[in-house]
Amino acid sequence: MNTGASNPVVLEDVQIKLVKPSAPVIGRVVLNELCMNGKSASYVKHTTFDVSGTPLAGTFRPGQSFGVIPPGKDDNGKPHKVRLYSLASPSWGEDGGGTVISTTPKRLMGEFFPQTARDDPSDHHLFRGVCSNYLCDLKPGDEVLLSGPNGKRFQLPADYVAHDYLFLATGTGIAPFRGMLMELLQGPGGACGSEIHLVMGSPYTTDLLYHDLFERLAAEHSNFHYHTAISREPRGMGRGGLYVDVLLEERLDSFGVLLASPRTLIYVCGLAGMQLGLFGMLARHDLDSNYCTRSVALADTDPADWDAPAIKRGIKPTARCMLEVY
Ligand code: FAD
Ligand code: NAP
Repeated sequence: MNTGASNPVVLEDVQIKLVKPSAPVIGRVVLNELCMNGKSASYVKHTTFDVSGTPLAGTFRPGQSFGVIPPGKDDNGKPHKVRLYSLASPSWGEDGGGTVISTTPKRLMGEFFPQTARDDPSDHHLFRGVCSNYLCDLKPGDEVLLSGPNGKRFQLPADYVAHDYLFLATGTGIAPFRGMLMELLQGPGGACGSEIHLVMGSPYTTDLLYHDLFERLAAEHSNFHYHTAISREPRGMGRGGLYVDVLLEERLDSFGVLLASPRTLIYVCGLAGMQLGLFGMLARHDLDSNYCTRSVALADTDPADWDAPAIKRGIKPTARCMLEVY
């Protein structure tokens, strides 16, 4: 189902790779504070860096990421490789001038599980990711090696008002949407009046990130709607938790109009694989043609019969569905 011709999706030219990981610049930590919604088994920070005086200052657009080069060496004695982190700020940064940028690092930690045939299957020491824990440990004033900007496809369209928006996040996949929502709703030219929906997926309510900000934005802007899909908390009446695509499907009475509109863009960020449920759901309700294409092999089949590998092989997003999943 499609209610008309799509508005073309025009993206701005953005600057990329001004600073290479091989010749990084120094950013100075301004603040580093937890940004979950309560006591949680996860530790996620809102971390900000002052990049004034470097080529990174004033260059970022929300949706882009930047590189962090952690100090020290890896198991092979080589310097640690760069890791990418999504920009969580709007283009004017955290300071209004684009010189303080932010991101949303989550401590990667847990019991070691074997990754290769060479790993000892009985080894279950505490595994700690190198860069995420380095970032989460930082204190204001600490210096960090940074590179970037990275990425040019996952971004807002040049003409904000030509589109409506559905943002789908899981976990730290929320980072780019914090920046995009601030860009759309708090820009110097005034708030964009388009319909904007954010669906945030988290295991527990306490894991929601930047929850207060999104509640405040929803209270201040009647065109912005904030939804949460909590996967591990039962909802009563025998109903289990929700994934973001299941929330959309359960509320198609209201989301159907948005999804069928030729103005709507969908942005998906977070866990690799989260897009598969979305594509299957859109196809089952004949809402997919705006956002994805079906391979020849799937063309004459019933979407109700598709499994995740078939969707992965046969469904490709169009320009109206932007993915940043890994
Ligand atoms: P590493 O030391 O690199 O360890 C990761 C490796 O360990 C992986 O190979 C993994 O398979 C393996 N591993 C994981 N768990 C275990 C285990 N229990 N036992 C054994 N091995 C294990 N991350 C964020 O937190 N916030 C962001 O905003 C963000 N944005 C990103 C944007 C982009 C475009 C990309 C590509 C990635 C982004 N990431 C983000 C992920 C980030 O780049 C790092 O991958 C992440 O922080 C982990 O890095 P690390 O150095 O801590 O882990
Ligand atoms: P998290 O807090 O564990 O939350 C993930 C949520 O998604 C959970 O509620 C989980 O439910 C649910 N989920 C699991 N499988 C799903 C599926 N197939 N479809 C929909 N929802 C699903 O997340 P996290 O640890 O922060 O991880 C976020 C991921 O985003 C990481 O992989 C990170 O690398 C990635 N990320 C990407 C970018 C980017 O590309 N720019 C930026 C930031 C983060 P259950 O666990 O209860 O099953």
